[in-house]
Amino acid sequence: MHLGAHVSASGGIEKAVGRALEIGAEAMQIFPSSPRMWRFKMTPDANIARFQAAVAEANMGPTVFHGIYLCALASEDEALLARSIESLTNYLKLAEAIQVEGVLFHPASHKGRGYETVEKQFVDAVHQILEDAPGTPWLALENSAGMGDHLGSKFEELGRLIKAIDSPRIKVCFDTQHAWAAGYDMSTADGVAAAMDEFDREIGVDRLKAVHCNDSKTAMGSSVDRHENIGEGEIGVDGFEAIMSHPAFADVPFYLEVPGFEKGGPDKKNMDLIKTIRERAQS
Ligand SMILES: [Zn+2]
Ligand SMILES: [Zn+2]
Repeated sequence: MHLGAHVSASGGIEKAVGRALEIGAEAMQIFPSSPRMWRFKMTPDANIARFQAAVAEANMGPTVFHGIYLCALASEDEALLARSIESLTNYLKLAEAIQVEGVLFHPASHKGRGYETVEKQFVDAVHQILEDAPGTPWLALENSAGMGDHLGSKFEELGRLIKAIDSPRIKVCFDTQHAWAAGYDMSTADGVAAAMDEFDREIGVDRLKAVHCNDSKTAMGSSVDRHENIGEGEIGVDGFEAIMSHPAFADVPFYLEVPGFEKGGPDKKNMDLIKTIRERAQS
């Protein structure tokens, strides 16, 4: 179980490695371009080589890319849908070029149209992305908190979507805060066991490729997506010990996406905390 964090890749992806090492991260999640802009530029070969060398030297665990926030595969707006497909295709192509594990993204909102209405469009879009970007990297759907008609807050719905896509390259990223906000009790061993039984039944634990390791500012079942530092929120240290002790997570990399104790994003203090919790969970 690699314990990692989301780190900035500004100034070039190879810069992310040093930032990860600085806080003690064992694996990285990065945005290879600005998450709030469509603009994308393929990373030059020289930067790819520097990134790969830095990752090898640091003995870094799996790197994953997070899709930009604008992606909306369930949107009614055709131009927006086309740009979303293009953006995720570019990210997957880059993942293949750099040899990183995969790309995860938010299924986003059906905007009140309902799951049934958008399913075919979503499935067709994912098929097109996987066809346009062949290779080994996977594409993972992230479970949502359920805010604003966002798809995939319940494992049943995420599972339906994954069965409909029916590809070995489609995987899942599990955000602990989103699961909690969607009504899954991640704060106790019994709660985690029940949640992961349901996850396995509806999706299959073999699809689980990444964990977003975030405590929650908001109440269980609130549907509100608000991350908190580890141990400062409603899931709590005991909750993370229960999560890390559960076999479903044994070989899955964790990535912090917390606000940070100095409000600067994932930091050494949060990393040290989850490392201590891992030690307790494994003893
Ligand atoms: Zn996310
Ligand atoms: Zn979130």
